[in-house]
Amino acid sequence: MKIGFIGLGLMGGPMAANLRKAGHALKVQDLRREAARELLAAGAQWSDAAAADVELVFTSLPGPREVQAVAGQILDAARPGTAWFDLSTNSPDVVRRIHVRCLEKQIHMLDAPVSGGPTGAQSGRLALWVGGDRPTYDRCLPVLKAIGDEPFYVGPIGAGSVAKLVHNASSFMVQAALAEAFTLGVKAGVEPLALFRALRQGATGRARTFDRLAEKFLPGTYDPAGFALHLAHKDVTLALELAKANGVPMRAGEHALAELSEAMQRGWAERDCRVAMTLQEERAGVSVRVAADRLREALA
Ligand code: NAD
Repeated sequence: MKIGFIGLGLMGGPMAANLRKAGHALKVQDLRREAARELLAAGAQWSDAAAADVELVFTSLPGPREVQAVAGQILDAARPGTAWFDLSTNSPDVVRRIHVRCLEKQIHMLDAPVSGGPTGAQSGRLALWVGGDRPTYDRCLPVLKAIGDEPFYVGPIGAGSVAKLVHNASSFMVQAALAEAFTLGVKAGVEPLALFRALRQGATGRARTFDRLAEKFLPGTYDPAGFALHLAHKDVTLALELAKANGVPMRAGEHALAELSEAMQRGWAERDCRVAMTLQEERAGVSVRVAADRLREALA
């Protein structure tokens, strides 16, 4: 396929290289010409309008501002029927607005943010979360597979970006919580490697981060308890007492205890501890529910 690729940074460079390795004819573009050096040596062609005269365009740019900056150029240069996958982590709102402008020119713009980091971009072990026109996604799937082993159609335009932002919000909430938990463990006297090795064997340690959501939260079943709320409340209370005794501030821990306490006040002490998650559903005014048989299918 004739492909244009704009944005050859830490992620874009190796993704473009994998397209070239898969045998595609590649036109590349970046603000920094030196970013294309290896790609040009591998047979790619430099262009100041990489969206012109190609079937498919990829952008991998820092964020909404840069994608908006190149959108005008793509709209001018691309011919009708061109597909444009934006691999940047972008604002769903911005993506949807550009998508509308693209439709007027019969350009199919899809958001396709990626997850896996530069190592994944090089090896191809990379998730792509795609939102937009399904037939265009299906048609371009073989090309997407040259970039990442896990392309996934999430839903209409913007859905890929929402999934990506939810993923990264989760990552950085977990990151903040683990920073707290590990400073507590080490300051309370446990050797860091021993702590790391121990925790990896625990219930949370053995599970893939999101898999435990399928046990209680997604099906919305909290009775009978697998782990009772009053026991979870006792554990986090003890952990925060330990933190206080050791002079370790625990912002995420205080938040977790506040959630469990509020659930206790509802009279849910004997229910499964994850019932506390329904408090956030109430506040957000949304129900996050998946039928058990559909969950089994997704996990299999
Ligand atoms: P980067 O800064 O290394 O690369 C961005 C590239 O875009 C640079 O080469 C820059 O010169 C180029 N650029 C900027 N404005 C341009 C313009 N107007 N025209 C042409 N080129 C332009 O960033 P990155 O780490 O490769 O990230 C790219 C995107 O992927 C971001 O949206 C980022 O959030 C996302 N992402 C990054 C990672 C990661 O671990 N680095 C992981 C997943 C997703």
